[in-house]
Amino acid sequence: MPIYEFECPSCGLLTTELCKMGENGESLTCLGCGHEGLWKQVSGFASPGVSKGRSAGSCSPGCHGNCAGCH
Ligand SMILES: [Zn+2]
Repeated sequence: MPIYEFECPSCGLLTTELCKMGENGESLTCLGCGHEGLWKQVSGFASPGVSKGRSAGSCSPGCHGNCAGCH
């Protein structure tokens, strides 16, 4: 089963869920605030500013993490 990332539209908490293909998040509940219905995030891409530990993979050599010159 694929792993999807969901964002709470109420508090913004990101939740990673292992769920069946086609899950849209409407039946999921936010662990942070209890809001029902989460937004499905597009997975498979590193989100600039959000990813941790994977950011180096999207940076140019010599970027050193500030990303001013690479993206
Ligand atoms: Zn929430």
